[in-house]
Amino acid sequence: LQMQLIRAQKMESIGRLAGGVAHDFNNLLTAISGYTTLAIDSAQQGFPVVEELTEIQHATDRAAMLTSQLLTFARKQQIQPKIVNINDLIMSMEKLIRRVLPESIQWRTVLNVNIDLVLADIGQIEQVLLNLVVNARDAMPQGGNLLVETNNVAVDANYARTHIDVPIGNYVLFAVSDTGIGMTQEVQSRAFEPFFTTKSDHEGTGLGLATCYGIIKQHGGHIGLYSEVNHGTTIKIYLPRSEQAQLDDAPSLIQNLPRGT
Ligand code: ADP
Repeated sequence: LQMQLIRAQKMESIGRLAGGVAHDFNNLLTAISGYTTLAIDSAQQGFPVVEELTEIQHATDRAAMLTSQLLTFARKQQIQPKIVNINDLIMSMEKLIRRVLPESIQWRTVLNVNIDLVLADIGQIEQVLLNLVVNARDAMPQGGNLLVETNNVAVDANYARTHIDVPIGNYVLFAVSDTGIGMTQEVQSRAFEPFFTTKSDHEGTGLGLATCYGIIKQHGGHIGLYSEVNHGTTIKIYLPRSEQAQLDDAPSLIQNLPRGT
């Protein structure tokens, strides 16, 4: 528990630092991008300098993407919550997920059809799912199995004893599991830090899990990481069940009951 507290505090201070830096950088990047566009427009077409300016523009765009991810981690992005069925969200991404995965990876879903509703920003949760799927793919260069599960979880004192990352409450759980290379203890303890990556330069930014962490925290949710070297990794995302949606749903459930004859 002590370790967890330290980790939470560490993430908080990294978040504050990253948020401040990202915000200032964003302003500078806007200036660089704006002036580069002006320079491209006023340069004579066909001059070599246009090519170099275009390179500057591309690098600036990439830097802007990184800072925007950092702002997500620091929870400085607005979220637009809607009532969401997480199963529908997962199935709506099936095509994209298939495109991301090579043939050597089998992907399978086990979805609880009675899943509770959550209040969530659809675009952001899609990003979380995609980041986790891409990480799972990268962890299985030789192929393997990728499983996406959903379930309703009531965390009580007993459950919380074995899942120390999650406080007591009602959650919708979605978990992404792979049969990949797994993570050492050292990697596990740093995996959510922004810019921490074990991948080569152009493959990883180290912002995938940090972004997931920021998004889930902003939703009032929690993340659990379970991993074993050479066996695989499971990331469990807990989103608080929407109690309001439960209530709103009740009358329509009653209306939908089959009428007696
Ligand atoms: P990136 O994927 O750009 O490296 P992430 O923040 O998504 O950044 O992940 C950080 C690190 O955590 C990865 O470099 C990798 O070492 C480890 N990691 C994340 N997901 C997995 C996974 N499913 N299996 C094994 N290692 C993982």
